[in-house]
Amino acid sequence: MQTLALSVIKSDQPEKWQEILSDLITDPKELLADLKLDTTANPLAALAAKGLAQFPLKVPRPFAARMEPGNWDDPLLRQVWPSSLEDVESDSLSLDPLQETHFNKTPGLLQKYHGRVLLTAAPHCAVHCRYCFRRHFDYAANTPGRREWSESIAYISENPDISEVILSGGDPLAAGDSYLAWLLAEVDRIPHVETIRIHSRLPIVIPQRVTAQLCSMLSELRSKSVFITHCNHPQEIDGEVQAALKAIRHAGSTLLNQAVLLKGVNNYADSLIKLSTTLFQSDVLPYYLHLPDRVTGTGHFIVNESEALKLMASVRSHLPGYLVPQLVREDPGNNSKTRLA
Ligand code: SF4
Repeated sequence: MQTLALSVIKSDQPEKWQEILSDLITDPKELLADLKLDTTANPLAALAAKGLAQFPLKVPRPFAARMEPGNWDDPLLRQVWPSSLEDVESDSLSLDPLQETHFNKTPGLLQKYHGRVLLTAAPHCAVHCRYCFRRHFDYAANTPGRREWSESIAYISENPDISEVILSGGDPLAAGDSYLAWLLAEVDRIPHVETIRIHSRLPIVIPQRVTAQLCSMLSELRSKSVFITHCNHPQEIDGEVQAALKAIRHAGSTLLNQAVLLKGVNNYADSLIKLSTTLFQSDVLPYYLHLPDRVTGTGHFIVNESEALKLMASVRSHLPGYLVPQLVREDPGNNSKTRLA
């Protein structure tokens, strides 16, 4: 298994991921043609005019290659396809359901919880997940350049109770290695920062992003590093993804997964069970299963709490406790996530 992991991090094409990132599928017609999907037979084929204008299609080719041709119900396709259901309006949805603008202390820095801050390390992602809770986030106001980060770095330095810094986004790994190395070093040199946590979907959608340089950056950190992958379905994990995840683990990071419970994608006990076991085979422990946030454009993904609790009872009856993620909901203003029984 070690050989498999090293074959990724020893790639002789360290910038391959950037080529993939600059050649995403952005035209719905191309995705339909690649997957040989019949547009006459399925109501999902109708596109979301508003949704697509607000949040364009972005699909990395290695991720599309894991979709099943001809299947409108493919769980990976469902996560990225901008169907007209996005344009259905509802009073229970909002642009900023977590009220993140209230926690935006300095450009690029959010503080929702005691002792932790989140940096929007990159304003973009490799994939546009249609359920994204930050699809309406004001990245324009939260994309500091190296000089502008000084305000946020000073905020962390002046608050000795901040022991954990989270790099999020967007996707922090959408940034290049030299910028990432610089930002990590700025944070790592603050003596009271004990843990640096990175949230990323890139090792899942473009596993080539896990370069030797990235792994050495992680292994050289003074702070403990925690890497949270975002993977929702076992079909997202193929041999290359598994090798990339093992390489991150090999670099010394604690590796956990955060999934979102999504109607039509993974709201089935067998999918959730297989997700946990496949993650574990890839050296990743399931951590959170989030109920989706009520974001405008994402109502068709929402699974209600009673269905979620039934699913979790089934998952729990099939898995050892350490493979059962915690079902959580985020309520704005609370000092932690709300754990559901
Ligand atoms: S990778 Fe994360 S932040 Fe980016 S679109 Fe997907 S859910 Fe949103």
